[in-house]
Amino acid sequence: MATHKDVSADRQRKPRVLVSTVLSRAPLGLAAPLVRVEVHLGPGIPAFAMVGLPEAVVRESKERVRSALINSGLEFPSGRITVNLSPADLPKEGGRFDLPIAVGILAVTGQVREHALIHREFYGELSLDGELRETSKLLPALVEGARAGREVILPLANALEATLVGHASLKVAENLRQVCDALRGRVALPTAASAGDRAGPVSQPAAAKQGPDLAEVQGQFAGKRALEIAAAGEHGMLMIGPPGAGKTLLAQRLPGLLPPLDPAQALEVASLESLCGRRPHAGTHRPFRSPQHTASVAALIGGGAMRPGELSLAHLGVLFLDELPEFARNALEVLREPLESGVVNLTRLKRSYEFPARFQLIAAMNPCPCGYAGDPRGRCQCTEEQVARYRNRISGPLVDRIDIHVELSALSVQHLVNEAPERPESSAAVALRVAAARRVQLQRQGKLNARLTPTEITRYCGITRDSRVLLGIAISRLGLSARGYHRVLKLARTCADLRGDTEIRRMDVAEAVTLRALDRIA
Ligand SMILES: [Zn+2]
Repeated sequence: MATHKDVSADRQRKPRVLVSTVLSRAPLGLAAPLVRVEVHLGPGIPAFAMVGLPEAVVRESKERVRSALINSGLEFPSGRITVNLSPADLPKEGGRFDLPIAVGILAVTGQVREHALIHREFYGELSLDGELRETSKLLPALVEGARAGREVILPLANALEATLVGHASLKVAENLRQVCDALRGRVALPTAASAGDRAGPVSQPAAAKQGPDLAEVQGQFAGKRALEIAAAGEHGMLMIGPPGAGKTLLAQRLPGLLPPLDPAQALEVASLESLCGRRPHAGTHRPFRSPQHTASVAALIGGGAMRPGELSLAHLGVLFLDELPEFARNALEVLREPLESGVVNLTRLKRSYEFPARFQLIAAMNPCPCGYAGDPRGRCQCTEEQVARYRNRISGPLVDRIDIHVELSALSVQHLVNEAPERPESSAAVALRVAAARRVQLQRQGKLNARLTPTEITRYCGITRDSRVLLGIAISRLGLSARGYHRVLKLARTCADLRGDTEIRRMDVAEAVTLRALDRIA
């Protein structure tokens, strides 16, 4: 064997280590707890056993590690090898532990020095010929490893996502042989950043990232204005309107009105994408997720194979639920916890873990089962009872948590013809006003208006006497519910912030009342 000479040289300097420990990490929510990969080599009948891993994983991993070592011109020992991954109760799916196991075998057989393993972490699935393959769900582990101040060795194929961490201690290798040479001090592995740069930019072209623009939506001024207010105060919004009113068009344009993610937020979003087995991108554009109404609870909250669900993929972005009344009741139930706390809690293997899920909820529904209630051409055939039953499906705690309810009408031909010829305002122009209003809120109260508590509403959303009179009329005459009172004040605050006014005026209160359509209907 090619390596025989230097192996025996190493052995002469130092007696064989019979147990070696290699550090790696398992995925657990967005956390990545440390896993110790212990490799024991003892005398006796040749055997290769693994403890603390599921049987199917063990079978495949053993085969890959053995073949990779041999095909890389390294020694696979003939004694009894036992690999123990601890703690035992962490999920250890996938091939990420191939490299740490192989490195442990190199150390326990004296092919590399035990000393070389200190202050290092290892990740990566091996192919039978010793190449390091792209390994899924790595990003949270890379973040934690870099944070712990260790050198992290990972597959070159994962270099692009590693560049998101932006840390010089992340090193990439193409194959096991390279890792072995690096641990022997013969070669220096390149940093992920330098390798990632060569592989091209990690993000999509800027134009593609910006998403659809508000300038493309003709008319629908009420909807656009509601969307701007929702963006400025991070208010949840329910749009009620017939098919073709542009509900989806508007919802898709909300991320483009929101401030871009900062680097830490972008890394968090990318980590959640990584845990879904996708190749994350370094975009600062906020996520937009629109699960179908047939989505299961598991698809929404995550779980299964430790994957985040739709609610977490919408973290720091927008969750759009079209056809809200069509969602199953238990699916809508699971939205309540994250809407309050911003996290989803899950349990697996008796361990509880959480995924962040702080999203802005945008929902849409038809005014009645057929969609045409209130249609001037009288197309709606629904009975009063059918309409009531349809609307009842969304009543209760979930809708209680949505600040804005806005009614949208279908665009009539007349309206389209009369449309002013000038181009509608662009997303970028609206985003400037939104950003300014958000700055004001954060300076005044350290949070956005949607998150104000009742005590804070009293403190920050005071209204003048004539506004109170107006609000009193609205409550009695329009049938505005008492529970909507606080919501109106918060919305009025956002309207005033958008105008750059420290005072909430009558017109702000009047506008806020129009954003509580369901209160009037109920
Ligand atoms: Zn109808």
